[in-house]
Amino acid sequence: MDVISPLDGSIISTVPLSTYDDVDAAVKAAEKAFTIWSSKTLKERVQVFFKYRSLLEENMDELTKLVVMENGKTYGEAKAEVEKSMELCEFAVSMPQIVVNEIQEVSRGVECRIERKPLGVVACITPFNFPNMVPHWTIPNAIVLGNTMVMKPSEVVPLSTVRMAELLKEAGLPDGVFNIVNGGKDVVEALCDHPGIKAVSFVGSTKVAKIVYKRATSTLKRCVALGGAKNHLLVLPDANPEMTASNVVASMSGCAGQRCMAASVMVGVAGIDHIIEKMVEDAKQIVPGENLGSVVTAAAKERIENYITQAEKDGAKILLDGRNTTVAGKEGGFYVGPTIIDHVTIDMSVAREEIFGPVISIIRAKDLDHALEIENGSNYGNAAAVFTQSGRLAKQVMERASAGMIGVNIGVPVPREPFSFGGWNESKFGVGDITGRSSIEFWTQNKKTTTKWVAEAQTNWMS
Ligand code: NAD
Repeated sequence: MDVISPLDGSIISTVPLSTYDDVDAAVKAAEKAFTIWSSKTLKERVQVFFKYRSLLEENMDELTKLVVMENGKTYGEAKAEVEKSMELCEFAVSMPQIVVNEIQEVSRGVECRIERKPLGVVACITPFNFPNMVPHWTIPNAIVLGNTMVMKPSEVVPLSTVRMAELLKEAGLPDGVFNIVNGGKDVVEALCDHPGIKAVSFVGSTKVAKIVYKRATSTLKRCVALGGAKNHLLVLPDANPEMTASNVVASMSGCAGQRCMAASVMVGVAGIDHIIEKMVEDAKQIVPGENLGSVVTAAAKERIENYITQAEKDGAKILLDGRNTTVAGKEGGFYVGPTIIDHVTIDMSVAREEIFGPVISIIRAKDLDHALEIENGSNYGNAAAVFTQSGRLAKQVMERASAGMIGVNIGVPVPREPFSFGGWNESKFGVGDITGRSSIEFWTQNKKTTTKWVAEAQTNWMS
């Protein structure tokens, strides 16, 4: 399959579409490597990721350019992504300090111990929007904890993963510990069905997350599947106007709005017109092709523009229109300018559905209760944020918003390790989160051992 750069529509590479036999071969290689890899100590395994983290740093410029080329985001955004990957490795190499097994003398001469053991071969399926960072949500933690992996990147952005594999090898990861298969639906289904795979982590749209979660668990695998989002930012009239406007605009337009943490709906509580005016001013400073990247495909551009057109037909007011954007010299690229839509009502598709572009829909609410009712009405629940100077009102949103990650005066409230990343409702299926401490539980199983060595203690355990 051709790999197309969204920057200008050119073909930059081709990606093989793996077959079931390729998946089977990858699983067999991972099974073989598991015996040796899992027998190493945690302290030995993290050494590879110390080295790998340095290699990410040394190759930062090349890795960044690869993300820019295959995904279309700006250089600064892509660099920030690779830096975040390094941070994810830093958490993984701290595992020997965190994953400390427990032992206790539970009766005279009798000890119970609990150890975390890897699961075996695990699979990781990722989306297009963070070709470098999202794979790192799972690769370092799962592998450091002793698992071996078969990974399937998005077929739209398959190149970064190959470079990561080369760097992992250079860092000393033994062959077979990390394997890549490529393709779309068929390969994902093969991974969900393969009896050699013990756990599946998935990140992508809600529609596919549901399919993967059901299919992987129906073959009795452990699964965590992160889905799409429709994040609400609640803006109260006492919010700091400059900070709020710039944060909301950055949240909706960063990575061309293709972030599962992006602001998609702004719920304005009466008396915020001055903030909206400032947002429009700020958004006008964004120049596609300069400080705004492209969206990922021609189909994505069309989908986003259709949403804007539909909102207009439904009676919403377009304050800033990003349709029909082109960049001189890159006429084949897929660009959508920042778009602000006001007077959106909850029945409109732009209020309910994930758009995944640099578009924000403003819904007017009469008070905070009404604003929270709108936020709570979403099927999704990845992030929600409130902009206010009142701690009392912020606390209400922290308690009542139906989302897994909450921001107070923060437009993109991504938790940093050791805190974990994961949404609520239809933004995540499965127990626990995908990163941070929560991932330790997901990638391991507990072995409980009871021992008695001293006959003199005369304890007859459990009999
Ligand atoms: P997607 O669901 O189309 O694809 C994700 C993965 O699933 C890809 O590897 C793809 O090959 C595979 N896939 C696609 N269709 C499939 C099918 N029918 N059956 C089985 N597998 C299939 O998502 P995308 O367009 O690559 O990424 C954007 C989506 O990901 C957005 O919805 C975004 O919100 C979401 N996302 C969520 C998070 C999060 O943390 N919740 C993070 C990043 C992206």
